[in-house]
Amino acid sequence: MENRQARVRLKPGREKSIQGRHPWVFSGAIEGLEGEASPGDLLKVVSHKGEFLAQGFYNPHSQIALRLLSFRKETLDADFFRQRLQQAIDFRTKMAIPSTALRLVHGDADGLPGLVLDAYGPYLVLQISSLGMNRIKPQLLEILQELLSPEGIIERSESAGLKEEGLESNKAVLRGPAEPRTLIEENGAKFAIDLLGGQKTGFFIDQRDNRQAVAKWTAGKRLLNCFSYTGGFSVLAALAGAQTTSVEISEPAQALARENFKLNGLDPEQHQFITANVFDYLRQLEPSYEMIVLDPPAFVKNKNHLKQACRAYQDINRIAMRQSLPDGLLLTCSCSHYLDWELFQKILFSAATESGRQVQILQRLGQPLDHPVSLFHPEGEYLKAFLLRVI
Ligand code: SAH
Repeated sequence: MENRQARVRLKPGREKSIQGRHPWVFSGAIEGLEGEASPGDLLKVVSHKGEFLAQGFYNPHSQIALRLLSFRKETLDADFFRQRLQQAIDFRTKMAIPSTALRLVHGDADGLPGLVLDAYGPYLVLQISSLGMNRIKPQLLEILQELLSPEGIIERSESAGLKEEGLESNKAVLRGPAEPRTLIEENGAKFAIDLLGGQKTGFFIDQRDNRQAVAKWTAGKRLLNCFSYTGGFSVLAALAGAQTTSVEISEPAQALARENFKLNGLDPEQHQFITANVFDYLRQLEPSYEMIVLDPPAFVKNKNHLKQACRAYQDINRIAMRQSLPDGLLLTCSCSHYLDWELFQKILFSAATESGRQVQILQRLGQPLDHPVSLFHPEGEYLKAFLLRVI
């Protein structure tokens, strides 16, 4: 994995971002490669003057030509990766997260660029998004086997940036049963997870804290859960005594939502499950819910579609505000990387203006602590949610 014969030299003055520990080096900052190297090799990076700066995965075909792992002259062997993984796992254990579904590794924030690793009880699901990480996959699997002895390992590498890295998407069982399904328990609620067929890595682990918060606010009230997937927000709210309506476009996800109600001893006949497009459904609704959750998929798939996506966020939020009861709560989320807090708030401002309602921000919510963001890599933040009061 390590290539000691070659190194990458930067252009003059381009070492600044590495000195600020940013883990990405763009191709434009590179003066040249010295020695022989293959795409995906682990290389040393030096300044124009030849001073050592860092070490990382090299990919000449990607705009992000280097993904840095270390800013020290250490050996990047199997022991190094074992230690990085162990550190990430130990931190989650120490934080006593109230769920059996956890993100064990969150890419650059955990010093492992291009690797996401989720645990679902005894199963592991990995998502690889860099060429270098893909090259060392066999070693990673060995280390994970040794550290965690999982019952199965599933790969769900399907992210949008794979092509640029020179990778194909890969959805497969790497170890374990052919149709991996499992049950997880989050804050006292049970969920059935289809690890291969489900969306993302099977479940939206990142909304854990926000589901718990919504459950607290909706006890004894009516909740409209839009973009409800397998019923995450609805199950927790119903267990807390809410009357729930779940709106979701995917038939299989909606079927699993009903199953999840049964799993928790809740009668699905006492709740509503609407298989529909949220945009259409919300438009024809009469205001009748004390709380609405909007958790749409990432509308911004890449920077070029930002404007169009902003329009979609604005539309859905305007409609939801219009459909809010007086003094209703609205939890509105965005998981688009390219939409930051400031822009999201501007969109909500425009939506509120168009809706003709008075709207307050009560709270900002985000990623849970197993999805950390490195201060040196703010790009790792993606989940943003506003708790609004629509008066
Ligand atoms: N809140 C969920 C996760 C939502 S993910 C949880 O806590 O588990 C977004 C969901 O929106 C996906 O299930 C996707 O199938 C659904 N979806 C996407 N576009 C939709 C649309 N126009 N109308 C309804 N559902 C949609």
